[in-house]
Amino acid sequence: MSYDFSRFGCRVFNDTVMREKLSKGTYRALRRSIDEGAPLDSVVAEVVASAMKDWAVEQGATHFTHWFQPMTSFTAGKHDSFLTPAKDGRAILEFSGKELIVGEPDASSFPNGGLRNTFEARGYTSWDCTSPAFVREGTLYIPTAFYSYTGEALDTKTPLLRSNEAVAREALRVLRAFGNTTAVRVSPTVGAEQEYFLVDREKYEQRLDLKLCGRTLFGARPAKGQEMEDHYCGRIRLRVRQFMRELDEALWDLGVPVKTEHNEAAPAQHELAPVFELVNVASDHNQLIMEVMREIAKKNGLACLLHEKPFEGVNGSGKHNNWSLSTDDGQNLLDPGKTPYENMQFLVFLSAVIAAVDDYADLLRMSAASAGNDFRLGGHEAPPAIISIFLGDQLTDILEHIAHGDVVEQTPSCILETGVATLPKLPRDGSDRNRTSPFAFTGNKFEFRMVGSSASIAVSSYVLNTIVADALSRIADRLENCSDFDAEIQKIVRETVRDHGRIIFNGNNYTGEWVEEAGRRGLPNLTNTVDAIGAMIDPKNIALMERFHVMSGTECQARYEIMLENYCKLVSIEGATMCEMTRRQILPAAADFAGKMARDYSSLKEAGVENASLLSMVRRLSGCITELEDVTGRLEEALETCGSISDHLENAQYHRDTIRAIMQELREVSDRTEKMVSAGDWPIPTYADLIYRV
Ligand code: ADP
Ligand code: MG
Repeated sequence: MSYDFSRFGCRVFNDTVMREKLSKGTYRALRRSIDEGAPLDSVVAEVVASAMKDWAVEQGATHFTHWFQPMTSFTAGKHDSFLTPAKDGRAILEFSGKELIVGEPDASSFPNGGLRNTFEARGYTSWDCTSPAFVREGTLYIPTAFYSYTGEALDTKTPLLRSNEAVAREALRVLRAFGNTTAVRVSPTVGAEQEYFLVDREKYEQRLDLKLCGRTLFGARPAKGQEMEDHYCGRIRLRVRQFMRELDEALWDLGVPVKTEHNEAAPAQHELAPVFELVNVASDHNQLIMEVMREIAKKNGLACLLHEKPFEGVNGSGKHNNWSLSTDDGQNLLDPGKTPYENMQFLVFLSAVIAAVDDYADLLRMSAASAGNDFRLGGHEAPPAIISIFLGDQLTDILEHIAHGDVVEQTPSCILETGVATLPKLPRDGSDRNRTSPFAFTGNKFEFRMVGSSASIAVSSYVLNTIVADALSRIADRLENCSDFDAEIQKIVRETVRDHGRIIFNGNNYTGEWVEEAGRRGLPNLTNTVDAIGAMIDPKNIALMERFHVMSGTECQARYEIMLENYCKLVSIEGATMCEMTRRQILPAAADFAGKMARDYSSLKEAGVENASLLSMVRRLSGCITELEDVTGRLEEALETCGSISDHLENAQYHRDTIRAIMQELREVSDRTEKMVSAGDWPIPTYADLIYRV
């Protein structure tokens, strides 16, 4: 049975439903709030709430939840039923305008970076009407922003919404300077490609590391890795096909425009890409995609791994944030058109992005920083930790010509020659693809390829919005006050190339030469999370966030603290998991097997056969046991020590430099041990079990 596409969005309180369920006046008022950000009055809210509840109940909902995104990389919300007991002992269903608009979760249970004291636990959720509500498993989900009693943002959505306004305002100023009087609104658009792994659920359940940390902390490399390159876009296994089908259908019902599904480079790795949407909706949809993936995997006897590096020695997973700006009258501001050299408006927006990324490379790098992503960036499978822009030869050429004051002419459009007469002739694209760049221009949008697979795209999106707003605002100032418009544009492009050209790199970002070259160009290379998150409290970045009302200095500081804390907690949990697995599974298994071999050696000896190899195997394994014991002891001590380091930064550095180093040592010994113990005696599923037995 094929999916009936008239179902698409059937679980969403979308425009069609609103039109149907609301009076013309109410509908118009709500639309004004959604499209133009007009405040919603309480009478309208009351009517909308009631219609929303009726519709949700028709969809089988009994509960509603204020769905929000605290800084945990998971979404949250408590579920309240619509039930109100009536005097006559029966139940009536109620949902008021106030319940729709505000909620009051306990903020103390979520990361807040010292933004509140325990006696001020109050937090609020507030309806974000720009992202549609939907029904899932008997609950009406209402997307909300989450903030503290004192009004500080405690989530990823609030700064995103604020940054949308900032970039919209500045982009519109530039458009007006170009004489555009028709566009009313500019909005960032985002398409987030999502990579993930699927492993067998039963095997997953047997690995404490996967269950608690989302990645394997042990595991010797299998005989076959990804060297054959036979998985990328290869045939999709039946079980995975079934998963993808159910996933697509569940997401389509929820109005998520899922488009592409394919196998990725690593064995057991896959990718999903939706069609791009307004960034706030795209961001909520990405959260939904991740949640639905986990659930559908479980239903199909699989486990979905969204960690950036579930397996050592195998490519990890990222999330590509495809970002652009478009107007309400349908213009993509990063679309060069057929004659980019004549498209001055495009060249100005392009210049703004180039300047923004160069000025705030550190902030952009920070937006992709996480303990998990540290294993991926720079590992020849993902971009290095150095931010640079890939523009392609054609655009770079145009910019350079303008910079030198030369006349730019159209490069002859090329036709791809395949040598086969029956194949259609295709025009060649303006540039080839570059899969090694962290920030690549891909025809009519930029693709930020550094983001980790489990991260919220809200963070990289609000950073992009804000830094581009800053560059656009400076350009708008100039365009609004210049006497010769065309000359001013030439000057802007020329100065961009002169002052920010260093950020453009069209070569292979995976090479050592690039790392050196980037150093000479003075581009920051923040190789790990602890160093990268410092950008959050850099005075120039705080000033930026404050200037565009995206975050206050206090909010920046709080986020910085949260990121440090999260890093420490994550690494500590991984360390503790390693200790537990070593003491309770790996050491006993190794000792058991060594004992078995020793007994075999004795029995053989009794039978008159002296086997020196067996004895040396016992000795080697016994050596491993000693090492395992020793390294685990040191890891336990280090985990104890970090409890007494009160400074957050110092503590994070300790986790990075000391704890992670001991963890690596422990892993190395354990992986060596694994190779010596019989398959039947090894207590946890191996890499081959995990990545080849789906
Ligand atoms: P790949 O990079 O793997 O080749 P695709 O080109 O298929 O991927 O998809 C890239 C993503 O970019 C898709 O989610 C697509 O919808 C999105 N995209 C396309 N145009 C825009 C745009 N103007 N703004 C934002 N995202 C866009
Ligand atoms: Mg991509």
